[in-house]
Amino acid sequence: MDFDESAEEAAFRKEARGWLETYAGSDEARGVTRVPGEDEAAFVERARPWQALLAEHGWAGIAWPAAYGGRGGTAAEAAIFREEALRFGLPTGAFAVGVQMAGPTIIAHGTDEQKERYLAPLLQGDEVWCQLFSEPGAGSDLAGVSTRAVRDGDEWVVNGQKVWTSGAHYSDFGILLARTDPDAPKHKGITYFLIDMRQPGVEIRPLRQITGASHFSEVFLTDARVPHDAVLGEVHGGWGVAMTTLANERAFMGGHSSGPTLDDLLALARDCGASSDPLVRQGLAAAWSRKQIMGYIGMRVRTATSHGRPPGPEASVMKLMAAWNMKANAELALAIEGAHGMLAGPGAPEQGRWQQHFLSAPSIRIAGGSDEIQRNVMGERVLGLPPDPRVDKTVPFRDLPRG
Ligand SMILES: Cc1cc2nc3c(=O)[nH]c(=O)nc-3n(C[C@H](O)[C@H](O)[C@H](O)COP(=O)(O)OP(=O)(O)OC[C@H]3O[C@@H](n4cnc5c(N)ncnc54)[C@H](O)[C@@H]3O)c2cc1C
Repeated sequence: MDFDESAEEAAFRKEARGWLETYAGSDEARGVTRVPGEDEAAFVERARPWQALLAEHGWAGIAWPAAYGGRGGTAAEAAIFREEALRFGLPTGAFAVGVQMAGPTIIAHGTDEQKERYLAPLLQGDEVWCQLFSEPGAGSDLAGVSTRAVRDGDEWVVNGQKVWTSGAHYSDFGILLARTDPDAPKHKGITYFLIDMRQPGVEIRPLRQITGASHFSEVFLTDARVPHDAVLGEVHGGWGVAMTTLANERAFMGGHSSGPTLDDLLALARDCGASSDPLVRQGLAAAWSRKQIMGYIGMRVRTATSHGRPPGPEASVMKLMAAWNMKANAELALAIEGAHGMLAGPGAPEQGRWQQHFLSAPSIRIAGGSDEIQRNVMGERVLGLPPDPRVDKTVPFRDLPRG
C-alpha cells in the first residue's frame, strides 16, 4: 500500500485546493448543498450551475478521457478532488448516476455515436440519468431481471416493472437492464439499454421514505420504445456491461460522503455544551478512529487504481465501513443533542439535519449492494471461503421458478 502521495498527486491536490478556494464562495457553489428536507428535484435544479462550472473547468470528469470532456486523469486524482471538495463542504453526488455510473459505462462499451450523443450533456448536468436495474423480484440477485425487451424493426419494445429507481421522477435518461433471451441462462440473455425516460410508455410512481422525501420511485414500462442504436454493448451481452456500472457504483458509494463530517460532529458537541461529557468524548474518539481507518482503506483502493488494478474486495470493505460509519455518527449526533434529538424539521437543531441523516443511514446499508452481499464478496475473495451456491447458473431463465 502506498502511504504517500506521489509528487504528481500532491501537485494535483494543490491545484484542486487552489481552484476550490477561488470558487467555493461563488453563486454556483451555494446551490450544491441540500437544505434538510428539500425536494430532491428542486435541489438537482439548483445544483446544475455548479456541475456546469466543474465541467467548464475540467473538474467534472477527472478520470474521463479528454476526448469526452474529461481531464484524462486517474481515479486517485478523482478521489483527491472529492476529498478536497468535501473540505469546502461541497458534495459531488447530485449527478452521480450519470457521471459516476452511466458515463464510465458508455465510455467503456459505447459506440462513437453513443459517446458523441450522451457524454457531454451528462457531464455538464444538462441531462440527468437514473438506474433502472432493480425489480420487485431482482435486487441482490440482479441477474433475475424479468422486464422483457422484444425487437421490433429498428426499435425494442420494453414491458415490465422496476423499483427503487433513485431520481426517476426528474431524469431524462435511464440505464436499463431487460431480458432479451429467456431461453438462455439468466446471466446470458440480458441486454443493456439507454432509455429515454420522457415518453408515454414510462410511468413513474414516487415512493415515500421514512425521511419524508421521495428519493426513489417505482417505474412501470408499458410498450416503452428504445431505438436499436441505444443498445449499449452486445445484444444479450448486457451482464458484462452491467458489471462495469456496478463496479463504478460500489467504488463511488464507498469513497463518497455527502453527509456531515467529523468537524461538523465536533462543532455540534461544542454548540450543545457536550464536549466535556466523557461518553460523548468516547464517541467522538471512536468517530475519529473510524475516519482514520476509512482513510487507510481509501489508500488501498487508490493504490490499486494507481497501479491499474480494479479495486475489488477493497471497495466492498470500504462500502461496508462507510455505511456503518454513517449510522454510528448519526446515532452519536442525536445522543449529543439529548432531548432535542427527538425533534424533527425546522424546530430541531441545525434544521433537523442530523435527524435526516439518522433516518437515511439504514438505506446506505442496502443501496449499491447490501451489507450481506459485501460480506459475501469479502468471504469469497479475501478469506477464500466457498462461494455462495449458484444452482441456477446454467438453467434457461424460462425454466427458473419465480415468485
Ligand atoms: C436508497 C436506495 C437507493 C436505490 N437506488 C436504486 C437505483 O437507483 N436503481 C436501482 O436499480 N436500484 C436501486 N436501489 C435498489 C438496491 O440496489 C437494492 O435494494 C439492493 O440491491 C437489494 O435488493 P433488494 O432490495 O431486492 O433486496 P433482496 O435482494 O431481496 O435482499 C433482501 C435481504 O436478503 C439479503 N440477501 C440477499 N441475497 C443474499 C445472499 N446471497 N447472501 C446473504 N444475504 C442475502 C440482503 O442482504 C437483504 O438483507 C436502491 C436502494 C436503496 C436503499
